[in-house]
Amino acid sequence: MFDTLSGKFSDIFDRLRRRGALSESDVNDALREIRLALLDADVALPVVKDFVAKVKEQAVGAEVLRSVSPGQMVVKIVNDALIEALGGAPSPLNLFAPAPIPFLMVGLQGSGKTTTSAKIALRLKTRERKKVLLASLDTQRPAAQLQLEQLAQKAEVVSLPIIPGQTPLQIAQRAMETARREVYDVVILDTAGRLSIDLALMEEVKAIRAAVNPVETLLVVDAMTGQDAVTTATAFNEAVQITGIVMTRLDGDARGGAALSMRSVTGAPVKLAGMGEKLDALDEFNPERIAGRILGMGDIVGLVERAAANIDQVEAEKLAKKMAKGKFDLDDYASQLKQISKMGSLSGILGMLPGVGKIKQQIESANLDTTVFKKHVAIISSMTPAERRAPDILKASRKKRIAAGSGTTVQEVNKLLKQFDDMSTMMKRMNKMGGAEAMMRQVQ
Ligand code: GDP
Repeated sequence: MFDTLSGKFSDIFDRLRRRGALSESDVNDALREIRLALLDADVALPVVKDFVAKVKEQAVGAEVLRSVSPGQMVVKIVNDALIEALGGAPSPLNLFAPAPIPFLMVGLQGSGKTTTSAKIALRLKTRERKKVLLASLDTQRPAAQLQLEQLAQKAEVVSLPIIPGQTPLQIAQRAMETARREVYDVVILDTAGRLSIDLALMEEVKAIRAAVNPVETLLVVDAMTGQDAVTTATAFNEAVQITGIVMTRLDGDARGGAALSMRSVTGAPVKLAGMGEKLDALDEFNPERIAGRILGMGDIVGLVERAAANIDQVEAEKLAKKMAKGKFDLDDYASQLKQISKMGSLSGILGMLPGVGKIKQQIESANLDTTVFKKHVAIISSMTPAERRAPDILKASRKKRIAAGSGTTVQEVNKLLKQFDDMSTMMKRMNKMGGAEAMMRQVQ
């Protein structure tokens, strides 16, 4: 998600950070590019204008221009503006009400409403230890009630038994009565979807809302529909006053325009993000984390904390120097593998590093995985010091010896050499981008 913006912002800030001092025209150039990047990501025009104006107001101040690291300052300002556009602090589901707490799910057909109802039920059950009852009020589509029943079974959550012929209002009332009688904490009412904004169905939602007085009226919208999602949200909000938004298919939404516009345009907070078809693919919508991801500046705080706990300081410094000089041999690779193994998964760590957004995919496709690290360390241990310094001398007979010595195969030795090669290339690129140095600065 947000890949388009992330790539562009990464370029903009790479350029800014390379400058020692920023002139007003540098800032203006960057702002122009930010504006284009946002428009390209399908962010609503008024939101873009507001965003750029806010950043400009803060970035063009004399203090910023005189500051020691103006590029970083601009990054920080943009970061804060992004967090604000995304809605500030995370907005959790409201569970502060006497049980049974009714949640009303509304949205267009195909937005992912039924799936999201089951996802929320599962989330409340596993994370909040709530007893949840699911009920489908969709009498429009014959299979809708059955679909929710099946999803409920998958999530191992109870769904209200289906009684054919009941009206949506009757089902809603029966759900609430059942929940009171059987002491449920939360009742999730999945309403009938609409193909488009439909007055009759809106009236139905209003009647249900008046009857059950929901604590949350959650609108489910498909992020992939871009500005249409924002229009839909505005219409629903005017008709039935939503308390929050769940954006689905953010997993497939490279642009992110709707997610960025939603809060400013509708005033309603985005509470949750659907990240896939599976029932556990529902995340909290966390503006701070998302802004971090968009900017590719990473969760440096998290990295420092983990690194400080695990990394050998002297070793890290030695490696940083070698990397900066472009000298990096298999001994260093082994030493780095040991350290990275201690820190957790490689791609997880890379995700937290500044500036690596662009190359992360390449690294993932290179399939670097901590489980093979131990094997690699064993292979490297079976090499002579000369071989470690200059792996080019490794021909067939040497590889055979190393494979035998490390209890691996020649193929595995070859694979390691290929990965070392990939890694060296990556380091060179990171160095160019300042990423490797930044990482080492952080861990020292
Ligand atoms: P409804 O008509 O609004 O109730 O939509 P459904 O819940 O039936 O969902 C329609 C399709 O979207 C289904 O195939 C879901 O698996 C899929 N879907 C729902 N949420 C997400 C999501 O967050 N990501 C992805 N990739 N697919 C989703």
